[in-house]
Amino acid sequence: MRAWPKGARTRTATMRIVFLGTGGYHPNERRHTAGIFLPDLGLLLDAGTGTFRLGRFLKHPELTILLSHAHLDHVVGLTYLLPFLNAGTLRRIRLLGTAATLRAVDEHLFSERLFPVRVPAETAVVGNEPLQWHPPGATGRPLTVTAFPLPCHRGGSTGYRLDGPSGSFAYVTDTGPDDSYVERIRGVDVLIHECNFPDDQHEWAERTGHCYLSHVLRIAERAAAGRLWLTHLDPTLTGPDPLGLDTSSTAARLRRSGMTIAVAEDLTEFTLTASSS
Ligand SMILES: [Zn+2]
Repeated sequence: MRAWPKGARTRTATMRIVFLGTGGYHPNERRHTAGIFLPDLGLLLDAGTGTFRLGRFLKHPELTILLSHAHLDHVVGLTYLLPFLNAGTLRRIRLLGTAATLRAVDEHLFSERLFPVRVPAETAVVGNEPLQWHPPGATGRPLTVTAFPLPCHRGGSTGYRLDGPSGSFAYVTDTGPDDSYVERIRGVDVLIHECNFPDDQHEWAERTGHCYLSHVLRIAERAAAGRLWLTHLDPTLTGPDPLGLDTSSTAARLRRSGMTIAVAEDLTEFTLTASSS
């Protein structure tokens, strides 16, 4: 596994990652709903209510969106893209997801009874085969995008892994306590994983098809992830340590072993950087 960069190593490639929204279900005063943007690649993972923030980070007029699934907290922001198209900061949108997700967006979100204007987007279905993707303006090696199913959420969800010159990261959201995808995310430099609930709500997590802290920590440990960002928090959790991370003995042990673990906040950003060492 490539180490998280530090010190004076020679940097050869970078990938900037911005959390546009870190909540699930509905926004609250602190968190909008799911969205992660990679400005250098023009790549958005999910389009929740945080999508209205996209404008300040856009660097390319082409936007590619990977959808985990079609629940509203992950797609409603597709209807927020019109101002960027109108302003000319966006000219081309590609929407990727499973066939069922794309169909749900097309038939329901963009039903004129729900929203009056159909946002123009090319669509492509993700399947079992990894995609080789050249981001706009990029030269050199393409990124490899691998989709994998997350069956433990009602309606299903899709996880994504990206492997590129600057390292690897995986995005796993809206899945119940399940370990079927551990091999798909093995050795990633960064794991961005939903953690909707603290441990004392594990029964509610199982009922709603979401995760609780100890389960996510076990997944990150088994996958040997280098860094773990926790996102998609229950919007009713508004305290200073909403998931109990500061008092978790498992988290303390993993941190001692070198794993970086943090709860993502809206507009948190970090850069994944490969080194030549
Ligand atoms: Zn969600």
